[in-house]
Amino acid sequence: MIKITPILCRAGTMDNYAYLLTDEKTGVSAVLDPSETAPVVAECAAQNICPTYIFNTHHHFDHVEGNRELKEKYNARVVVGEGDVNIIPGADIGLADGQTFDLGDSRAQVIRADGHAAGHILWYFPDDKALFTGDVLFNLAIGGLFEGTPAQMWESLQKIKDLPDDTLFYPGHEYAVYGLGGLRGEAGQKYARKVLSRRERGLPAAPFSLGEEKLCNPYLACRDFSEFCQIINS
Ligand code: ZN
Ligand code: FE
Repeated sequence: MIKITPILCRAGTMDNYAYLLTDEKTGVSAVLDPSETAPVVAECAAQNICPTYIFNTHHHFDHVEGNRELKEKYNARVVVGEGDVNIIPGADIGLADGQTFDLGDSRAQVIRADGHAAGHILWYFPDDKALFTGDVLFNLAIGGLFEGTPAQMWESLQKIKDLPDDTLFYPGHEYAVYGLGGLRGEAGQKYARKVLSRRERGLPAAPFSLGEEKLCNPYLACRDFSEFCQIINS
């Protein structure tokens, strides 16, 4: 099992999340998407952790800018999607779609998810029922189509929808409050209450289960590709 600690980076501007992942049995740790160095170093110090790995979801600067300094400080190995090996600063290992990677005794599976950024990957820990979605899936939203087509994003979202409903997902940014206005019905109210109560306590809105997200995220809720195209163009 992994312990997951969200670390808010670029607070008040881009509101990125890095995540500190620790395999509880072996203590082996990784930092996922270190947007900047300082908050990650502070959390590692607080938990007395020296991460063995840096994991990235994609090459955008707000997900990798801490890579080089942290790699040097902790002598960490940088693990990325195969398409990002020559792009992401400090990258050592590239993983293809479906490949697995062991963090101590916890196994991650890589899911290729284009649409937002070419070569974007999701980090999925099936035994932990945890999914790190980077900038593909946010609470109540999806990432912009910067380096991909609607069809690629649609395909990536279908891969996410195929995972078990009780999977908890951890997004790359704190954007949940922006989606609250679009929530409808009982499931929507419940979702909104959960977001607000967590945010009032200074906690991330995440995690939500994919089951909850499928009901409330308009991009996951739409039934077919043409409906999806309509909402991304509206
Ligand atoms: Zn991005
Ligand atoms: Fe981002």
